[in-house]
Amino acid sequence: MARTMTKGACMLCNANVSKAGMTKHLAACVAKEINPGRASDTQKATEGRIFHLIVEGRDQPQYWMHLEMPHDATLKKLDSFLRDKWLECCGHLSAFTFQNERYASHPSPDFDRRGMNATLGKVLTQGMKFYHEYDFGTTTDLVIKVVGERQGKMKGTVRLLAVNDPPLIPCGTCGKEAVHVCSECVWSSDKAWLCEECAEQHECGEDMLLPVVNSPRVGMCGYTGP
Ligand SMILES: [Zn+2]
Ligand SMILES: [Zn+2]
Ligand SMILES: [Zn+2]
Ligand SMILES: [Zn+2]
Repeated sequence: MARTMTKGACMLCNANVSKAGMTKHLAACVAKEINPGRASDTQKATEGRIFHLIVEGRDQPQYWMHLEMPHDATLKKLDSFLRDKWLECCGHLSAFTFQNERYASHPSPDFDRRGMNATLGKVLTQGMKFYHEYDFGTTTDLVIKVVGERQGKMKGTVRLLAVNDPPLIPCGTCGKEAVHVCSECVWSSDKAWLCEECAEQHECGEDMLLPVVNSPRVGMCGYTGP
């Protein structure tokens, strides 16, 4: 996979930008947006410190997003955003891992005592990297980097700034674009990835097939997209 060549869309200006260039692009794009000429756009927003985060698949860096979240947003908000956008299939457990701490969606006295009510301002610092796991069985692992911080106004608790273009995955049999993935074969074979025609011949049957969606959870458990 051509890892460094992936591109994505800036949600602010619709530009198509390389993964490597997106952080710089967004810095300029966000700066333009907060100039006084466009202040009316953000009038109802509240002023405060805002983090710029990059989320990507831990072993699947072709899936990535840039987000902004205010300091007073909780880890829970970030968890639910990640679930909505990329992860949720059947309400599995999830957790964030920092160097020495874990914050879990379902804390328990014996294991993962901390819940996700901590605010980002308390647990994040610029330059830090931390991890998110969704589903402790068929786990989807994400890595999150804190790449920037600014003073500004923001509506709501999460703003999506940019997202990767869907990677083109070839059918493992004929090479055309795959639209289905077999949740059984995905563990063992490239033949799990199927175009429309080859899907009809696939030996595991239709029930095992999941749609190819733009998420690091593609093909896992029962994931069918947001
Ligand atoms: Zn832009
Ligand atoms: Zn599931
Ligand atoms: Zn095919
Ligand atoms: Zn199969």
